[in-house]
Amino acid sequence: VERTLAIIKPDAVHKAEEIEDIILRSGFAILQKRRVHLTPEQASDLYAEHYGKLFFPSLVAYMSSGPIIALVIARLQAITYWRELIGPTNTIKARQTHPDCLRAIYGTDDQRNALHGSDSFPSAQREIRFFFPDSVVE
Ligand code: ATP
Repeated sequence: VERTLAIIKPDAVHKAEEIEDIILRSGFAILQKRRVHLTPEQASDLYAEHYGKLFFPSLVAYMSSGPIIALVIARLQAITYWRELIGPTNTIKARQTHPDCLRAIYGTDDQRNALHGSDSFPSAQREIRFFFPDSVVE
């Protein structure tokens, strides 16, 4: 069993219950959950890998624009499977190529894409610690 970090981003928080239902029905266990409103500084830390990119300031503004919900979810191959379920980064393109994915359904535009999923095992470790600093790393 593998763990990954999922984020319900500000544009989708009003659909959180529905999304958590889908998470559970997709075979994940929800191990931890936290609703937080990130400061711009915290959002910059979270997305430090994108520092310097053209979209960085608006990404930080988006991610600190309202509460988000961070979830530690677990199942076999959680990282890959959750990324598959949320679909391509760009909501508009996702609607054309993967209409059933969660970003196609819950996303807003090419930046506000409703959901996040860690992209690798090291990212998952880092992001889980970011939101749940007391969690035990296995
Ligand atoms: P996430 O890390 O949120 O799961 P991702 O791994 O699919 O998304 P990244 O390339 O890591 O995509 O980008 C992080 C976030 O930055 C995206 O989810 C999106 O909100 C925003 N973003 C990425 N690329 C662009 C872009 N070209 N224009 C605007 N926003 C973007």
